[in-house]
Amino acid sequence: MTTVRTRFAPSPTGFIHLGNIRSALYPWAFARANNGTFILRIEDTDLERSTQAAVDVILEGMQWLGLSHDEGPFYQMQRVDRYKEVLAQMLEQGLAYRCYMSSAELDALRERQMAVKQKPRYDGTWRPEPGKTLPPVPEGVLPVIRFRGPVGGSVSWDDKVKGRIEFSNDELDDLIIARPDGTPTYNFCVVVDDIDMGITHVIRGDDHVNNTPRQIHIFRALGKEPPVYAHLPTVLNEQGEKMSKRNGAKPVTQYRDEGFLADAMVNYLARLGWSHGDEEIFSREQFLQWFNLDHLGKSAGQYDETKLRWVNAQHIKRTADAVLAPLVTEQLGKRGIEVPEGFPLEAAIALFKDRCSTTVEIADWLSMYFVDAQPAEQELAQHVTPAVVPALATLRERLLALPAWDKASIAGALKATLAEHGLKMPQLAIPVRLLVCGRAQTPSVDAVLEIFSKEKVAERLQTSAKSL
Ligand code: GLU
Repeated sequence: MTTVRTRFAPSPTGFIHLGNIRSALYPWAFARANNGTFILRIEDTDLERSTQAAVDVILEGMQWLGLSHDEGPFYQMQRVDRYKEVLAQMLEQGLAYRCYMSSAELDALRERQMAVKQKPRYDGTWRPEPGKTLPPVPEGVLPVIRFRGPVGGSVSWDDKVKGRIEFSNDELDDLIIARPDGTPTYNFCVVVDDIDMGITHVIRGDDHVNNTPRQIHIFRALGKEPPVYAHLPTVLNEQGEKMSKRNGAKPVTQYRDEGFLADAMVNYLARLGWSHGDEEIFSREQFLQWFNLDHLGKSAGQYDETKLRWVNAQHIKRTADAVLAPLVTEQLGKRGIEVPEGFPLEAAIALFKDRCSTTVEIADWLSMYFVDAQPAEQELAQHVTPAVVPALATLRERLLALPAWDKASIAGALKATLAEHGLKMPQLAIPVRLLVCGRAQTPSVDAVLEIFSKEKVAERLQTSAKSL
């Protein structure tokens, strides 16, 4: 059995978004699931549009998501000598030829063909054929190099997603594989790379389906069998358009910054074009156990932020508090909060995480422990009424007198205060929440207070009561 070798070959021409990175997830998963090798190749030959910043987002995004590569990153710009070597070899073997047709001549040819309603295509003027005399080489024209493609017949492959795809060779004219300045062109470089890197499975976006017949011909001309192809349907944005930076897609690293978990993203992206029965929530390990190319979806996946948040919330619930702790610390750090030594961070996360869909939301909750409470005036007026103020003072005294600061003792102090003042729990709990936490809704008040120090609770109850 051949060892699986897959690759992700992004062009660093824009910040990589979810639609792009899904094309990394599947080849990565397929390699991992089959003990194979996953290769990262940066297709940076478009010098005008490629940027280092875009490369950085690719590397950072993949690292964040845990899509580690075993070989590379290989940069196409560093392989130009190799492409030229193959070009020379192809010229020598008659697999490619120089074409001196100028762009003006090509334009004229195109116009003539269009005038008689023919599909514009190169007419083979410079294509060598047995017994054919080629035109004299014009002076001062730098030639392009064209691939000498097969004439007649067809080319087909069994796509792992789309099934059998066939193109008539007559639709494919002789492809330019090097420009007049000698630089190799895209489809050619891809094939040389896929051969040199021993790629067995090409898993990529279906915007490349039209390139595939040309690439297959070049493979065969070079004496190699093409790899298995799986062309993934597009990812659509929430408006149903192809996801792209131009219509608002975010760079993938932004999801990290917005508090999404890498495992949740992997889960969400996996489902955006692949399924394992009805499973919606799964771990990375389960995904790798289940993943194969047979259950890739045929129709376009549509991004749905609400669903992504739900998936993230499910993962937050299942993720150990100790694992969430550094992520929440980082989110708190971004708002200038340094978690002091001794703060029961994991307990605090455990208390709030079930109501949060991102680590940013967890940090929103936890901020109350570090930032002064600023309840809305209107809510204060509504809930911290003169009737409650004496009960708040009693509670404060009782809390200060507690020998132990834990949930049960705090609950005891609350209960005793209610009994003493003839109040119902919400009549006391809401004002306490407003004064201490700055908001009227929280998880159970004894549990929320336990995370504060006793002194901090007493301070907030007092200061605020005084100012009434
Ligand atoms: N560089 C191409 C792209 O970003 C991918 C080419 C391939 O996977 O063959 O669309």
